[in-house]
Amino acid sequence: MNIAIIGAGFTGLAAGFALIQNGHSVTIFEKDIAPGGLAIGYKEKEWEWTLEKHYHHWFTNDNSVLSLAERINYPVLIKRPKTSVYVNRHIYQLDSPSAVLRFPELSFGQRLRMSTVLGLLKFSPIWKPLERFNAATTLPSAMGKKPYEMIWEPLLINKFGAFADDVSLAWFWARIYKRTPSLAYPEQGFLAFASALTESFSTHGGTLHLKTEIESLLSEKAKVEVAIKKGKKTEKHIFDKAIVTVPSALFLNIAPQLPSSYQASLGKLKSLGAINLILRLGKPFFTDNTYWLSVCDKKSPIMAIVEHTHFMDKKYYNNEHILYLGNYLPRDHTFFTQTEEEILNAYDPFLKTINPTYKTTLIGMKAFKAPFAQPVIPVNYSRMIPGMQTPLPNVFLANIDQVYPWDRGTNYAVELGEKVAQLIRN
Ligand SMILES: Cc1cc2nc3c(=O)[nH]c(=O)nc-3n(C[C@H](O)[C@H](O)[C@H](O)COP(=O)(O)OP(=O)(O)OC[C@H]3O[C@@H](n4cnc5c(N)ncnc54)[C@H](O)[C@@H]3O)c2cc1C
Repeated sequence: MNIAIIGAGFTGLAAGFALIQNGHSVTIFEKDIAPGGLAIGYKEKEWEWTLEKHYHHWFTNDNSVLSLAERINYPVLIKRPKTSVYVNRHIYQLDSPSAVLRFPELSFGQRLRMSTVLGLLKFSPIWKPLERFNAATTLPSAMGKKPYEMIWEPLLINKFGAFADDVSLAWFWARIYKRTPSLAYPEQGFLAFASALTESFSTHGGTLHLKTEIESLLSEKAKVEVAIKKGKKTEKHIFDKAIVTVPSALFLNIAPQLPSSYQASLGKLKSLGAINLILRLGKPFFTDNTYWLSVCDKKSPIMAIVEHTHFMDKKYYNNEHILYLGNYLPRDHTFFTQTEEEILNAYDPFLKTINPTYKTTLIGMKAFKAPFAQPVIPVNYSRMIPGMQTPLPNVFLANIDQVYPWDRGTNYAVELGEKVAQLIRN
């Protein structure tokens, strides 16, 4: 079969890799200059390794992506970095049951109750009955109002903004159930890993067209016609089947034949964009070696602060200290149109409460913005998930909206890519 894949994120790459190994002819079209999608990286000229535009790591139980790395002999590093929370203007390590039991901002009874609820979620593989409850009402009644309001409510609000009250308990379960204290990272970064995967795909006979945006696709006479804009001309290519891995809203834009009822159901799926401001610093930002800081403060302008060089060695980045200032935001938020300096000005007073002198060692900064980054998972989401088979014959959808109950992640992108490849083969 002659198969087109739209998008060279990890879903598209994994689907392409699986199909090419099964002897199909596969062409991947990617609008960006490099593969990797949301996990794409870049490299400053002084650096040895590539760095993700948005912070990325794997959990040690991310078996689909780790097994893919193993199959192409790609080296993966495993480390246990420090994960902390910012509560009442203090930083506390909170990444193990014993750390939860020692957490000084709550009474012993409150800590015990919260740990019991987290323990139940961590060890129960059963998530389906949880999806009809929302996290914002169930968690305070289960773990107690104070622990919820101190830690989990600010996290939900900072992550989902106006949608925080809608988020399902199944989404929360997935975050607790899957988390591992040790984390994994592909040597030289996710871009280098995506490039190695692409190389292996090409060696097996696959074709990847970068800087190639699909304008539209039409399903006709048991074939799929894919249209690419080339300067002022439109080039058309015919395939037996096509896999679309772009966000659902973009699928609606490129597939005009989709029936209105299907358009309406995809139109109901909500998502947020992501903005990461990366600071290159001459000195560490966190003096206690924290890698990941979840900001439990509803008024903070930042959701998470991630010091990448407290996970990977700074020697790969010219001995610079790399700091991500991360946020999920609605696509109409002013940060999407602001410069790096304007965004940093908004963050600066908060950052100074943690490290008053960080700015004196600032080497450079870059902001990266992704409009479709985090699906919002409301109650009973299983009834809303689009299927991989679309109403258009021979056109399949495999994207970030379909990895439920899991939260988005490259591991699930790989799993989904392999699943859609299997569906096509059958
Ligand atoms: C801030 C942030 C932090 C994250 N942290 C982690 C993490 O720590 N660990 C982890 O595993 N995952 C993480 N993720 C999630 C992970 O990056 C995604 O779940 C995963 O990369 C999704 O892959 P995908 O292939 O499904 O989609 P995408 O990566 O979105 O790929 C879709 C591709 O389609 C291309 N495209 C779009 N329109 C067109 C068109 N018309 N023509 C051609 N190409 C097109 C896009 O350029 C893109 O490359 C994070 C994501 C964000 C935003």
